[in-house]
Amino acid sequence: MAVENLVIIGSGPAGYTAGIYAGRANLSPICIEGYQSGGLLMLTSDVENFPGFPEGMMGPDLMAKFRKQAEKFGTRFISKNATRVDFSSFPLKVYIEDEEIQTKAVIISTGAATKWIGLESESRLLGKGVSSCATCDGAFFKGAKLVIVGGGDSAMEEATFLTRFASQVTVVHRKDHLRASKIMQERAFKNPKISFIWDTEVLEILGQDGVTGAKLKNLKTGAISEIPCEGFFVAIGHEPNTTFLKGQLELDPKGYVILPKRPTTATSRPGVFAAGDVQDTIYRQAITAAALGCQAAIDVERYLETLH
Ligand code: NAP
Repeated sequence: MAVENLVIIGSGPAGYTAGIYAGRANLSPICIEGYQSGGLLMLTSDVENFPGFPEGMMGPDLMAKFRKQAEKFGTRFISKNATRVDFSSFPLKVYIEDEEIQTKAVIISTGAATKWIGLESESRLLGKGVSSCATCDGAFFKGAKLVIVGGGDSAMEEATFLTRFASQVTVVHRKDHLRASKIMQERAFKNPKISFIWDTEVLEILGQDGVTGAKLKNLKTGAISEIPCEGFFVAIGHEPNTTFLKGQLELDPKGYVILPKRPTTATSRPGVFAAGDVQDTIYRQAITAAALGCQAAIDVERYLETLH
């Protein structure tokens, strides 16, 4: 079996940028881009802060450009999910179900996935009025009253986006202040269709075959109330996509890949590197993920030279 130079697992800004750099270095990388390629930007509307695009850019269009650029330099794509890895011996092994790929180096760039509140009603009504993606599902809620949970940039961005369709968007947040950046906060505060319920958690999403409301608890007073709504959006952050790595790499308690040799992207296993949201608990921006993808590809180049 041929041993590849590099397998990149994951295909957001980090994975594609790693593909561009490793491709230009003649490493002919394989990128296992997943069934849902492109990462979280595929679920975003306007990206206004990616340098080089002063007019802004739709997330999926930006990712299509990244992918095209990686392909141009010889990155080969597999549109499936990596299901398992074996980093216990050399060559490293990456599996797609039963298919085994042997490789000298791996870059993990599987990113992060939506975090859910964890309510039974949330999973039961998912796709029936409960959503984590305003860009994907907002248009289904023309003229509707909506609730969105969260206090970060995602919640503010999604609340603002949802006002294009909804008659009213209520942000329910567990604190009395937002975590979101000032510009996103101000945009939401100024929007007449957005209102806020502070210091409040959601106990239950109401409805049988569709969402009819939410049961809320004020965390300061303990008061229970109900708010009617036809759609319920969750925007409370993300969790790293690392379940398939357990036991193979050092992960922190939240599942993020640990990089013990910072500022390099080397993980706890020789030949395995990580880039993007899968190892970033602080910045989590498209541009920082892309930068880390570049670093990881350069780290791989140097690592491969040491094997000669
Ligand atoms: P985040 O910044 O981690 O914020 C998550 C929010 O959800 C916080 O307000 C948090 O509350 C709340 N939360 C977490 N778990 C909860 C739970 N179980 N129940 C109720 N509320 C819960 O996540 P994010 O908004 O997805 O943003 C992630 C990163 O992407 C950030 O770095 C952000 O700047 C970036 N981002 C940027 C843009 C942009 O610039 N256009 C857009 C989207 C995201 P607490 O505040 O109480 O912790």
